[in-house]
Formats: sequence, C-alpha cells, structure tokens
Amino acid sequence: MKYISTRGKIAPVGFKDAVMMGLATDGGLILPESIPQLDRGTLAAWSKLPYRELAFNVISLFATDIPAFDLKALIDRSYGSFEHEETTPLVQKDGVYILELFHGPTLAFKDVALQLLGNLFEYLLKERGEKMNILGATSGDTGSAAIAGVRGKENINIFILHPHLKTSPIQALQMTSVLDENVHNVAVEGTFDDCQNIVKALFNDLQFKKEYALGAVNSINWARVLAQVVYYFYAWGRLPEQKEVIFSVPTGNFGDIFAGYLAKRMGLPVEKLLLATNENNILARFVQTGDYSLGKVVQTVSPSMDIQLASNLERYLYYLWDENPEKVCSAFAELQSTGRIVFTKEQVLRVQAEFMSCTVDEQKTLDTIASFNRETGYLLDPHTAVGVRGALECAPGHPRVVCLATAHPAKFGDAVERAVGSPPPLPPALAALVGKETRCELMAPDREKIKAFVKAKA
Ligand SMILES: *Cc1c(COP(=O)(O)O)cnc(C)c1O
Repeated sequence: MKYISTRGKIAPVGFKDAVMMGLATDGGLILPESIPQLDRGTLAAWSKLPYRELAFNVISLFATDIPAFDLKALIDRSYGSFEHEETTPLVQKDGVYILELFHGPTLAFKDVALQLLGNLFEYLLKERGEKMNILGATSGDTGSAAIAGVRGKENINIFILHPHLKTSPIQALQMTSVLDENVHNVAVEGTFDDCQNIVKALFNDLQFKKEYALGAVNSINWARVLAQVVYYFYAWGRLPEQKEVIFSVPTGNFGDIFAGYLAKRMGLPVEKLLLATNENNILARFVQTGDYSLGKVVQTVSPSMDIQLASNLERYLYYLWDENPEKVCSAFAELQSTGRIVFTKEQVLRVQAEFMSCTVDEQKTLDTIASFNRETGYLLDPHTAVGVRGALECAPGHPRVVCLATAHPAKFGDAVERAVGSPPPLPPALAALVGKETRCELMAPDREKIKAFVKAKA
C-alpha cells in the first residue's frame, strides 16, 4: 500500500514513511492510494473477533511494510494499556448504543490513536537509528493522551505546552504527574493560543526543526486516523443484527468522523454518519448548506470540540472533489485569502447522501446529560452528550444508532455537576492522581526562552 498527498506533490511513500512524515511535505494530508474493499463475507467473519485481532486485520491492510509479527506486537502493547478487556465496549442505553472509547490511560478516545502512534514511533525510530523531539500545545485532552502514548519510550522526548491554570485541574495533573525522564511539561503563563503560536513558530524555524528532529502528534498523522477506523467495525460487529447503522460522532477536527467515512468506503454498512457539533458549528453549516466559512472560536462545555478550522476535513474534500489535488490546492488557497470555500449544489447533495448534522448548544448539552442520567442512570460527558442529543433529534426511533462516547464523564466533572447537581465519582485512575508528585516548568510566553528550554532538555 502506497500513500499520496491531498495536494498531489509528493512521490508515493510506504506506510512507515507516511507515519514519520506526519503532515505531507507539500502541506497536504496523507491518504492511501486506494481504499481496500471488504465484502460481506469478510465483514461477517470479522464481526465477532476480539478487538486486537480485528485491529490487526484492519491495520495490516494499510501497514503493508511492517511484518505481521511486529505489527501484532505493536497492537497488543497499544491496547494492553486499556483497562477494559473489550478495549471499546458497546453498551445499550435507552434505545441508543454507546460505544465507550474512554477506557485508555487518560480516559479519552484520543488514547485509541495515540497509544498506537507512540509505539509506532518507537519502533520506527529504533529501526532507523533516529531520535525525535515531539512538540505540541494542548488545551487538555491531546496533551495528556500524547504523553501517555510516549512516556518512557526510547529515542523520544516529548514537550507539551499548556496554558497555566487554564486546563481543568485533573487534566493538568494527568500531564504533570508523569515523571518519566523523556516527558517535559511547560505551563505557559498565557492562553492556549499563546501556546499554539509558540509551537507553530518553532516548527516554522526550519533550521531548529531539522536540527532537533521536531515531530508532531496532532490529528493529521495518518496512523491516528487508521487506528480509529477499527472501532467502527468493532461496534457494528457487536450489534444484535449486522444491518445498516448510523454513527453519531461528536466532532471537532473531523478526525474521528473521517475514520467512520473510511470504514463506510471500505464496505461497512453505514446508512449515515451524523456529525454533531457544539456552538462551533462550521461543519454542521457545511453539511446543511455547503457554507464553509471560518468564524471565531467560542468556548463551550465541550472544549475539545471548540475548533473552527477542522484540519482533517481536507481528507474528505479530496474525495468529494473526485481525488483531484489541483482542486484541493486552489480551494485551500481560496480559504486562506477569503476565509471560505464555496460548494456547488450538486456537491452539497453528495455530502448529504453520506452525512447528517446537528448543532447542540450548551443548554441542550447540559439538559441531555441530566435527562439521560434520569432515564438510564448513565452519565454522559459533555462531548458525548452532544452526539447523543444529535442522535435523539436527527434519528429518533432508529433501531441502530451508535453514539461514540469520547470521554469519561469524570474528566469534565464541572460540566457534569452543573447538569446533575453533583460531581461524577472519580474512577480509580483519576483518584490516584490527587496529591501525586508533579514536575512542570512554569514559563512566560516567550518563544526564545521556550526554544532554549527544548534545546537544553532534548
Ligand atoms: C478530540 C475530541 C473530540 C473531537 O474529535 P475530532 O477527531 O477532533 O473530531 C471529541 N471529544 C473529545 C472528548 C475529544 O477529546
């Protein structure tokens, strides 16, 4: 299997090079040259496999340059860190199915991808005799999952900038209580945007980037998308009947739902993908009217979805524009200069043949947490609640709606408490963090000082 770029200006590369490249060197996103097709017989045969065996079957279609024995070991190690033996169990509550993706080390679905990516990086760096310094900014979830993915790994250092006192206390602890020597937390006296601007500036410093082999773990890495394809197949196999299904996906960067789109294109019987957003609803407008115009980010109770520019959408647009890289280049040039991309009626109809969308505001999100808890005794985190509300509004009574549960409710205890009146009980993994020793560097939002810090620790 070879990989290409949505912008069409790289020579095809293998899976291993695609993972190490992250963002394609022409500024585009990496995609497989062709999408493997699974027939009904194969789907049926795979539908009862344990998670890791299924993961091996799916991932080995794409990672054709990693020997089977090695790939199996990487997958076993990645999902051995999940505390649930099913990895991503499917539960039924009040007419909808909930796919629990939060049983990894940091209790958010990003672990599914970042546990695998961390192990892949370690494996590939060792093979190449190289080192990597991962640098990233986080408002909470991605940073802790990335740290959990690479802590203690050989030939990798990780530097994560977070805004001092602006993540939830639990999220900060999930990062700063990791004392492995290769983990470096920086609490920046500023906002998340300050953190992100510093990281961007350091990546744009090409001399520094090259000399220190800077790497990224953001959601544009192909391996992250690929890891997420697996649980769509898994969920379908766990349904009582293997028929057409709707997946409701709380969406920010379009990474998770794009994985569902790939599963559909591989042959999984998906009736629709339901794109659920909070007030940052640029993607819902895109699906409903073809209007893709950037607005200002507003803060909500589902902060991991407070995004305007959804970086993974480019992957989908590549297919919508009939795999034409010139069209991708011109449209993203248009987006840069005008802040929007315009779609034709015919294109909007094609989008709507595959996606539905729903915007769920803060009040509805909190109401949904409360009512769902009253009716089923089950606590939703605010991100998951956006998807569940979307499902109840857009596909009422449908017998097979699977809502992706992207975080454990205790990670967003404040919002849950606002909704139901008391904070969710802390699971053991979070309770154990309280009072733990921490290590973190408090720094001004000063690019040069932070660059010097990375140099000293790398
Ligand atoms: C990152 C995240 C999302 C959004 O996923 P995308 O792949 O960016 O669409 C939703 N919920 C939670 C809890 C997250 O951490």
